[in-house]
Amino acid sequence: MADQLPVALVTGASRGIGRGIALKLAASGYRVVVNYVHNHEAAHAVVDAIHAQGGIAIPCQADISSTEHHDLMLQQIRERFGRLDLLVNNAGIAPRQRLDLLQATEESFDHVLGTNLKGPYFLTQRTANWMIQLVEDGILFQPKIIFISSISAYTVSVARGDYCTAKAGLSMVVKLFAARLAEYNIGVFEIQPGIIETDMTAGVREKYDRLIYEEDLLPISRWGTPEDIAQAVVAITEGAFPYSTGQVFHVDGGFHLRRI
Ligand code: NAP
Repeated sequence: MADQLPVALVTGASRGIGRGIALKLAASGYRVVVNYVHNHEAAHAVVDAIHAQGGIAIPCQADISSTEHHDLMLQQIRERFGRLDLLVNNAGIAPRQRLDLLQATEESFDHVLGTNLKGPYFLTQRTANWMIQLVEDGILFQPKIIFISSISAYTVSVARGDYCTAKAGLSMVVKLFAARLAEYNIGVFEIQPGIIETDMTAGVREKYDRLIYEEDLLPISRWGTPEDIAQAVVAITEGAFPYSTGQVFHVDGGFHLRRI
């Protein structure tokens, strides 16, 4: 019976948004592969939490910026589960240091784009080829790929140009794969989170507290949570959008609205 349950790979699921997505997908009936790169304990805690709620999960250490690691990770999933119904490209990093565009380094550019753009691009390519095979073999019906991009895909932050460039590129990756995979019934979707309370934003908490609570940055005047993003992921996986692909979901408290 458990062999029939769909399988999801969530990259960067040890903490923050990915952790929230992994927990909610497990609660909605997915067997979940909890990918992480460094934080062994946090990843195992997510797996334990899923087991405690009666779900099925495995940890999987792999560096998303490495195509060799992609192959090893997919091999592990193939051997353990024999299928992959959902890929959530969530893992991502901020630049180690926020530096003005006129001073920012090539090293940071390569690191951020390697993880946030090249990594999901090639992981999606490899996953898509396997999903196509599974669809053609009649094992999967309507698999899905979801990208967690950002409001930084279209919002300028001159102190982290590499991050914005990577997220803008990722939005195009969504469109490319959505167009290419539609004939196989593989839906591709993008979620653009706004300002979400996680480790990534811990260092800029005061700045965003001020913008949100004193300067009216958001129509919905609060921080977003990993659960807000996870709810959107689960809604997509429930099949409510059968005639959509390449769709962008704004989960940002209304940040994207132009206001005067
Ligand atoms: P976070 O709290 O810093 O967590 C990052 C997660 O990604 C961790 O699980 C980390 O694993 C994993 N990770 C980092 N580099 C990796 C790599 N090379 N290979 C595999 N996993 C890796 O970040 P978050 O705030 O949840 O962000 C998740 C995604 O949402 C990112 O793509 C981010 O750009 C995007 N986003 C975040 C916000 C926000 O406000 N927080 C807003 C918009 C978009 P370890 O625990 O092993 O380090």
